[in-house]
Amino acid sequence: MALLDGFGRKIDYLRLSVTDRCNFRCVYCMPVHGVEFVPRDELLTFDELERIARVLIELGIEKIRITGGEPTVRKDLLELVRRIGSLPLQSFSMTTNGYAFSETVKEFFDAGLHRVNISLDTLKPQRFKDMARFDGFHRVYRSIWRSMEVGLDPVKINMVVMKGINDDEIFDFVELARKNPLHVRFIEYMPSSHSYGNRFQDDRILTTDRLKALVAERYSLIPSDPKITAGPAKMHTIEGFKGAIGFIDPYADHFCSTCNRIRLTSLGKLKWCLFSNEGLDLKGFLRSGNSDEHLRNWILEKILTDKPAHHPLGISDMISVNTVFSQVGG
Ligand code: SAM
Ligand code: SF4
Repeated sequence: MALLDGFGRKIDYLRLSVTDRCNFRCVYCMPVHGVEFVPRDELLTFDELERIARVLIELGIEKIRITGGEPTVRKDLLELVRRIGSLPLQSFSMTTNGYAFSETVKEFFDAGLHRVNISLDTLKPQRFKDMARFDGFHRVYRSIWRSMEVGLDPVKINMVVMKGINDDEIFDFVELARKNPLHVRFIEYMPSSHSYGNRFQDDRILTTDRLKALVAERYSLIPSDPKITAGPAKMHTIEGFKGAIGFIDPYADHFCSTCNRIRLTSLGKLKWCLFSNEGLDLKGFLRSGNSDEHLRNWILEKILTDKPAHHPLGISDMISVNTVFSQVGG
């Protein structure tokens, strides 16, 4: 069965945020003193997460990505990966900061995880410490190679590019994809009221157009077939490269017009859009004793009316958005 929204878009992808907690406090994601974490009993339990995943799969979800906060800080994450990994999915992936990932990567793979996105914004250990406000470069780097070794495919690197902070490393990241089958994806920095940048620091933004033009000055980028590289990244190959390069522009129209995703926040709200402030309170609905059938019908009804055609934002609107990336999962 296909799950369609009110604009006829097929919704087949769920981002499942399993915690709002994180060991890092990346400059673009969290304020310097961190955010107040919600009490643990407000997080969805594994039973609830599995139940919601099951119902959404029955409705048409084919791909699930576990994210956070940092998913690996959730206690017994492997147990959840086993549960979700046993469901009928076309694709099961995780987005992680990679700090604790290499320790359990083999078990995750054996439990059914197919692919991984590891966030890495710099190849310089001291700069890493400054950007993540945590000393973790070598462990994250090891996770990338271990992920390839155990067979996760593809292994994607997410680099948030910030002008004057790490934009001098763009070509070093491009080069990572020359000899390795890595997908290196450059993400345009999104200022939000919770990140280090805000309206007054928009000068940290290096637009995707500008970034792509810079890369194209040195490399011949060959756009990949968008059908193969479905998702927000516009992927490109480069002759002689084993890996690929992608650009993620959160503001671009293509992002919304082909949006196939919904998000479950760590607090159990089903969000139709990364930038929605509201969401459907699935946790409250489940904890009030509603059946799976009621849940199915409620989601079906709401997805038709509530998933917006476009996110409402221009760059200058960002400050008003209460998006906490560590709660919504980026
Ligand atoms: N902790 C995990 C990680 O860092 O990969 C998963 C959650 S994190 C919120 C998901 C993604 O959102 C990461 O790739 C991160 O780089 C990205 N992200 C967070 N804040 C961002 C921002 N202000 N602009 C662009 N991307 C951001
Ligand atoms: Fe944590 Fe990921 Fe946010 Fe960095 S981007 S602070 S690792 S949730």
